Amino acid sequence: MLSVAGIGCKQYREQMDSGAVPELSCPNPECAGARLRGHGWYQRYLGGERRSLRRVRCARCGVSHAVLPEDVCAYRDLTLGSVEAGVAAGSPHAGAEASGQDGSSGVRRVRGWLRSAEEPFAAKLQGLLGPVSCPWWRGAQEVVGKAAGWLTRLRHWLWSSWSYFLGGLSGLFRHGRPPRRSRGASP
Ligand SMILES: [Zn+2]
Repeated sequence: MLSVAGIGCKQYREQMDSGAVPELSCPNPECAGARLRGHGWYQRYLGGERRSLRRVRCARCGVSHAVLPEDVCAYRDLTLGSVEAGVAAGSPHAGAEASGQDGSSGVRRVRGWLRSAEEPFAAKLQGLLGPVSCPWWRGAQEVVGKAAGWLTRLRHWLWSSWSYFLGGLSGLFRHGRPPRRSRGASP
């Protein structure tokens, strides 16, 4: 998966519906910057609404990528802005309120976000950020600034510095690719 700087949820439809494929190179270094071509669309929810998102594909390595709006999480219908508000508030209750997540399910959800600080994801992310504060969201803000949009900036920073795509709360995808799951491995 990939995203294009400046193309968030608001700009996405207008930019993509023209049929123009964004100018993107294959992130795999072995492909030496091969241009990605349009490869259809896929459907997912954005803001509770079913939307078409662009797919692109590299003719050299054959890998296809979803082009996500720069300000949404991978795999879940959640904006990076909500996550920013939720984790920065400091507690599950305050975070649920700040991010507009209602009721006890909202509190549980934000508690899960805060727990990302103890997951392997956080250790890996902190390693990429360098010597910064914990939890990871404080460290990230030290690198990309605290102003609104810091998760989007973090996504672009990780991509340009390390070729890791930040999925949102847990995923860091090298060259935009989810990790390969070993077949037949028991959970
Ligand atoms: Zn490629």
